[in-house]
Amino acid sequence: MNLILLGPPGAGKGTQAELLVERFKTPHISTGDIFRAAIKEGTPLGTEAKRYMDSGQLVPDEVVIGIVNERLLKSDCKNGFLLDGFPRTVPQADALDRFLQSNGRKIDAVINIEVESAVLLKRLTGRRVCRNCAAVYHIESKPAKNTGICDHCGGEVYQRDDDAPATVSKRLEVYAAQTEPLISYYRQKGILHSFDGIKPIKEVFEKVCQALGAIPQ
Ligand code: ADP
Ligand code: ADP
Ligand code: ZN
Repeated sequence: MNLILLGPPGAGKGTQAELLVERFKTPHISTGDIFRAAIKEGTPLGTEAKRYMDSGQLVPDEVVIGIVNERLLKSDCKNGFLLDGFPRTVPQADALDRFLQSNGRKIDAVINIEVESAVLLKRLTGRRVCRNCAAVYHIESKPAKNTGICDHCGGEVYQRDDDAPATVSKRLEVYAAQTEPLISYYRQKGILHSFDGIKPIKEVFEKVCQALGAIPQ
């Protein structure tokens, strides 16, 4: 299945992606993870993306669209993929539609995770991630077994620069202005499935799996 994970920063997209990938063995394409890897490697893409990310702004559409199209052409995406954090604007969604159509493919379902802003702030400021495998933790609700060390790969668990409180507020504003319109965009296409993201991680996951199980392929 070709899936999109939609929702504000901190809704739990990356967390649900980890579980979905394990169950469905589908490639996980997170544009945020792609940019963070580029920053770590010090590539020109990383240098450009960092300017936007550190101020809570979106990376320009043409940069993101090119990267995702290239990734979707790889053979591991032939039988399905899970997009996380893309599309984030209407032009990105239009470009994705056109690109998939030209390849005889389409999006089967959009998983929209809903969480109110006050909870998002707590989640984002307490979030920690693995620098090596991008696994997601939280200082209170999902701490790593050994502080600072990833349970999965032993990598360094750190706090993202853009999870600082000032940047978090900016990102929530940017979400409301530029990404939220995608909810009605995909509802109109009849492929939107919304979930209450306040529920515990496993509960959200089971609900998502139930919904996906009911989608004809
Ligand atoms: P996103 O990818 O949408 O920005 P993440 O998956 O990175 O969100 O989750 C943000 C933070 O919230 C992380 O610290 C994660 O551990 C925590 N989190 C995710 N889902 C839940 C949940 N259902 N209940 C409580 N905490 C959660
Ligand atoms: P979160 O999981 O908290 O929503 P991401 O890891 O998805 O954050 O994204 C981090 C940052 O990377 C964004 O604030 C933005 O600057 C950039 N970014 C990621 N995906 C996109 C995208 N599709 N379009 C533009 N910028 C993006
Ligand atoms: Zn790790």
